[in-house]
Amino acid sequence: MINRFKKIIFFGLILIVIHAIIFLIFDFDSYFVFALLSILVYAIYISDEIKKVDRMKLELDLIKQRESDRLLKERIEKQGRLLKLYRKRLDQLYAEVAEKSKKEEKKVEIPAKYIGSNEHRKYHKENCRFGKRIKQKEKIFSEDIGFFKKKRFKACKVCMKKS
Ligand SMILES: [Zn+2]
Repeated sequence: MINRFKKIIFFGLILIVIHAIIFLIFDFDSYFVFALLSILVYAIYISDEIKKVDRMKLELDLIKQRESDRLLKERIEKQGRLLKLYRKRLDQLYAEVAEKSKKEEKKVEIPAKYIGSNEHRKYHKENCRFGKRIKQKEKIFSEDIGFFKKKRFKACKVCMKKS
């Protein structure tokens, strides 16, 4: 772009020199006509150069824009791929967690027809509402009623009475 302005100035200087020569050699009338013509030519030349500069700027902007668009597209695609990977991994983790909790559920389902309380030294049927109230850390589970009898736990008067 700077080169173009240099060119414009250089062309202008050449014109001035030509003007000087013609002014010195020819009479005033022919110089006047020449001067008008040269001003016209110079004006056209300059406007043309300025247009070129503008066009170049525009093209440059367009190229830059395309490049940044391309980069953006690449980044989006990359992130899309990453997202797919993450989603896949997440699905795997969910599946693992689901399987684990299933296994744990099974473990919980297996045990204990009876629940004992260390605190009150009583035992209940699993579904007894009093048994369910026992603090988690005081709970003892067993399938064998003899287990509690050996420990000299007392039978719950509500749930053990029925059977
Ligand atoms: Zn009970």
